[in-house]
Amino acid sequence: MTQTTTTRSTCPYCGVGCGVLIQTQAGRITGVQGDPDHPANLGRLCSKGSTLHLTAAEHVTRQTRLLQPLRRPQRGAEPVAVGWDAALDEAAQRLAALHQAHGPDAIGVYVSGQLLTEDYYVFNKLVKGLLGSNHIDTNSRLCMSSAVAGYKATLGADAPPCSYTDLALAQTVFITGSNMAWAHPILFRRLEDARRANPAQKWIVADPRRTETAAAAVEAGGLHLALRPGSDIALYHGLLHLLLWEGFANAAFIAEHTRGFDALKDRVRDFTPRRTAELTGLREEDLLTAARWFGGATPTLSLYCQGLNQSREGTAKNAALINLHLATGQIGLPGAGPFSLTGQPNAMGGREVGGLANLLSAHRDLANPEHRAEVARLWGVPEVPARPGLTAVEMFQAAADGQLKALWIACTNPAQSLPDQATVRRALERAEFVIVQEAFATTATAAYADLLLPATTWGEKDGTVTNSERRISRVRPALPAAGQARHDWAIAADLARRLARHIAPERVAMFDYPTPEAVWREHRESTRGRDLDITGLSYAMLEQNGPQQWPLREGQHQGTERLYEDGHFATPDGRARFADVPFLGLAEPVDADYPVSLLTGRLRDQWHGMSRTGTLARLFGHEGEPVVDLHPQTLSRLGLEEGALVRVVSRRGQLVLPARAQEGVAPDQAFIAMHWGQEVLGGATENGQALLGVNGLTTPAFCDRSKQPELKHCAVRLEPAALP
Ligand code: SF4
Repeated sequence: MTQTTTTRSTCPYCGVGCGVLIQTQAGRITGVQGDPDHPANLGRLCSKGSTLHLTAAEHVTRQTRLLQPLRRPQRGAEPVAVGWDAALDEAAQRLAALHQAHGPDAIGVYVSGQLLTEDYYVFNKLVKGLLGSNHIDTNSRLCMSSAVAGYKATLGADAPPCSYTDLALAQTVFITGSNMAWAHPILFRRLEDARRANPAQKWIVADPRRTETAAAAVEAGGLHLALRPGSDIALYHGLLHLLLWEGFANAAFIAEHTRGFDALKDRVRDFTPRRTAELTGLREEDLLTAARWFGGATPTLSLYCQGLNQSREGTAKNAALINLHLATGQIGLPGAGPFSLTGQPNAMGGREVGGLANLLSAHRDLANPEHRAEVARLWGVPEVPARPGLTAVEMFQAAADGQLKALWIACTNPAQSLPDQATVRRALERAEFVIVQEAFATTATAAYADLLLPATTWGEKDGTVTNSERRISRVRPALPAAGQARHDWAIAADLARRLARHIAPERVAMFDYPTPEAVWREHRESTRGRDLDITGLSYAMLEQNGPQQWPLREGQHQGTERLYEDGHFATPDGRARFADVPFLGLAEPVDADYPVSLLTGRLRDQWHGMSRTGTLARLFGHEGEPVVDLHPQTLSRLGLEEGALVRVVSRRGQLVLPARAQEGVAPDQAFIAMHWGQEVLGGATENGQALLGVNGLTTPAFCDRSKQPELKHCAVRLEPAALP
């Protein structure tokens, strides 16, 4: 009988960070179960997590895995196999030549929230400590950077203060800009459990669509605030106005623990219920109920995600929501606080190592000279450059304009996921050298690669990730690497050593890491004395005591469940800051030419660009094909039946999709899931224009503080379309 081996690891999909037990037999992953001992999921898995073993098998059998380094002799040609040494030597030579000819700013590195903390750490050090620029950014820019900026602007640090245990302790749960029933399913299951145990728990869901989360709230006697797209800040200011009017302000907390309340109070004076109702499209009585629950049925927990973050005023939206918690003192208490849900499995780990264009290791700021000097000392380099790096959208715009000459893309698919795809594809064509480091050979981005470097993926990777509640979990390999694939940190370190021989031979040894744990120990040391200090943690402790929440300082024996319990915030004077932010609205409001609001979002059973979930037929049982959801009135206005083809046209592109009638989408709105890309949609329009997925339509406008693009909304017009 074949022996079964069980390996404890973490799900690679979303930021809930569920623990999994991987079963292997004879060198194959044969099963996966929820880890009953993991504090995030307590044994449960959602539809995506519970099919990980099947997708893992499909990757290899369908040959979607990239199993050896490939080199494209010229653009447009089929790539041919090449050895690791030849691939990395060529990469080092070409990057060094561009570095010498055009300077460090000629090279951009674009990474991913799917990378492990150890991978992220090496990439960040490579760019900021070796190349001498800050042009490294991550696809987490598309998901979390507004939450980072919002926390820092108000609480002083990028530190989500809450824990999953708060779900069961809250009396009111305000879910805003999140369809967590689909996007964070296991957390939503925990919330359902909480409400079953405490039927008095109140749910408020703010979302323009009647999502599954909103419908569940209504069913449970809660509120769905179907606000106008982009009117979130008006809603939060209006709620604050009502909280003050109804006497729910916590004057003692405001006086002792905050600054800036008077200016904000002046601003929200005008957000009367009537005006807020006009701005948001909501009923005054619903606003009043929401305010009374938020301020009166406490403790109150807010859960939020991309609806706030993916916006040109994403930072302000985050901060305006946090204002409500500061004004009522609903923070630092069991069951209370503003709790940002992370999209990707390791968006948090990337933030921790500073793997973004404006951050440095351990939550340090690039703009702070002392922080730059500290990181330079840690790495043993003379300096970390002060020039701000290019963020995700900027990086591809710079490459499209010819300023960036090389792009190194790891574990992400910008040719599908970034907004304004026409510009992104121009960037990939115009860059002189494109490296794609990937587990999957079939992404849209891989088609543009001059060099394809095969990376390990879930089931093979070894390191750590951090979930939404600051909990660090181990990711362990159940199998050896497939084919010639190597770990992302090891590829980056190897290429860094070869590159250093050309541009800075004294820095070769900076990248001598024998194991991922050696990388992690260096990261751990960088956190000493910082808000996320993990100097008391080790791989051995994770092995023995299981996943832990940061901070976990030297001498501590377990992590920290909740932050700011003493009312001391991470600002220089310990006081949180109210954010006096204006309400601006959408980057691209509807008008006479483009009168419909296009909203984008996730499906229950798919993940990102489908490179993993799209290989499994079972995961198409829930939603089998791309559609545009329209209200029945919209269909009748267009003279169409359900199933008819509709052309969705924005200022940047167009898509033709079958229409589906959905009452949960307002008559002046349309909804398209974000997962389907060119490879799924295929073909071209009647004008010969490629169908680039929903991001062929979306706007590159971004938040000026967080640089996170407004992927959630753009203005479109709808037309009946003929069959091609
Ligand atoms: Fe994986 Fe997220 Fe589902 Fe948990 S909720 S099993 S982390 S996809």
